[in-house]
Amino acid sequence: MINAEKNAHKLALIQKKQLAGLLSDRFPQVLSITINVVHYYGESGPVYMERTINMVPNSNIYLLHLQCSGGRCVNGGFDLTPRVEELVRNHKKSGKGKMVCAEKDEAGASNHASLSYDISIKYLH
Ligand SMILES: [Zn+2]
Repeated sequence: MINAEKNAHKLALIQKKQLAGLLSDRFPQVLSITINVVHYYGESGPVYMERTINMVPNSNIYLLHLQCSGGRCVNGGFDLTPRVEELVRNHKKSGKGKMVCAEKDEAGASNHASLSYDISIKYLH
């Protein structure tokens, strides 16, 4: 990918983030969300990175979009929003699962990553 394309992509991501809004806009009943994420190489490769995402009502909702660690991945990534949405709808306090990069099906798994997540949600009432 040439630099101009990379920059355009970066800019698009920044704009998406700015337009995304806050956690409290999307899920007003949520006090906090903690997500433990483990990124893996490929679909079931070794661990690439582990991290914890902490969100409060004025956190950007775009924190729920995680980037794919695959070197050649452009438009892929992981959107945890539907998973959080489902938990909130059912007023559940936690949920776990695995995901593969959204772009994987188009380009083949070897260039993309997968992750496992463990979500904990606290509610205002
Ligand atoms: Zn990917």
